[in-house]
Amino acid sequence: KEKTIALIKPDGVSGNYTDGIKRVILESGFSILRETIVQLDEDKAANFYAEHSSRTFFSSLIKYMTSGPVLVMVLEKENAIADWRGLIGPTDARKAKITHPHSVRAMCGLDSEKNCVHGSDSALSAQREMSFFFKGMSSG
Ligand code: ATP
Repeated sequence: KEKTIALIKPDGVSGNYTDGIKRVILESGFSILRETIVQLDEDKAANFYAEHSSRTFFSSLIKYMTSGPVLVMVLEKENAIADWRGLIGPTDARKAKITHPHSVRAMCGLDSEKNCVHGSDSALSAQREMSFFFKGMSSG
């Protein structure tokens, strides 16, 4: 089976979407292997989103991601990485509401920044993010 990282962003946690999102996760056949609540500081958020450091929205993204605690989970299931990405829907939650009305981002997101959840986009990212949040944990 495959593992991936699901992260409920500060707007998802403060908007009380955690239980609803977990219900969707479990009903979709994932197991939640680990979970932890983390308050990211600027350094940690910038490290997590390092690939976006040159984007115009980067400073806003860091402000958003440090605005409150996030819930990080390790999900497991066959095809977990692609299936969780599919379940959350497109990056822009406004678009998600139109094109993927049953997606997680349609349910709890606001726009292209405040989109309430994250999912690893590849096996490499899943591995990196797992050891980022759960020291010593590997996807294999
Ligand atoms: P994530 O990596 O969080 O799962 P994603 O892979 O769907 O999201 P990315 O393109 O990797 O999208 O962007 C990372 C995050 O940066 C987005 O989830 C969103 O919070 C923020 N973001 C992306 N595009 C924009 C934008 N145009 N304006 C503001 N914020 C953005």
